[in-house]
Amino acid sequence: MVKKRWLAVIGLSIVIVIVYAHDRTYYRDTVPFLAPINFDGDVPIRCDELGDGEFGASRKGRRTHKGLDILAEVGTPARAAKSGWVAVGNVPDGMGKYVRIRHRGGLVTIYGHLSKINVRRWQKVRQGDIVGETGKTGNADHPAIVPHLHFEVRNHGSSVDPLDYLESSKVRQHDEEAVVDSVAYELE
Ligand SMILES: [Zn+2]
Repeated sequence: MVKKRWLAVIGLSIVIVIVYAHDRTYYRDTVPFLAPINFDGDVPIRCDELGDGEFGASRKGRRTHKGLDILAEVGTPARAAKSGWVAVGNVPDGMGKYVRIRHRGGLVTIYGHLSKINVRRWQKVRQGDIVGETGKTGNADHPAIVPHLHFEVRNHGSSVDPLDYLESSKVRQHDEEAVVDSVAYELE
């Protein structure tokens, strides 16, 4: 009786280890940080009569901009910068429809003003997966505001400049292999 119980415990432990190892491999990032939008050359940052898209730019009511506004036509795919767990929301007077991804190591990325959300709450995504499409929801819904993705990075709860991550990673363009991977994943 005791022997049987031990065999069950060992068997279950082996299954857990195999599932965990598979999960770690499947969700392993191919690059340290992936640009959420595909662009050529320097990061295209919003600058229009209603605001400057840099991190830390001043906003109404002595607030500062907590993200980086990356120029993108409405309907541009927004991709997960790293793999992680998804949360979604809608702030009509703020960043509109958004996706938030919690990554390993205390990092969180946020994708705002989306027109479409392709993921669900609690879903786990891989780096490069399309989490939604850019848009003009929330306070970006103004003709004078050029279409962009509001992109935030939080490190252990504090907002940090996404540009540091985009530049230090040396990955400004979307990795083609990751695109192929994510397309295959979507078809599954
Ligand atoms: Zn913004």
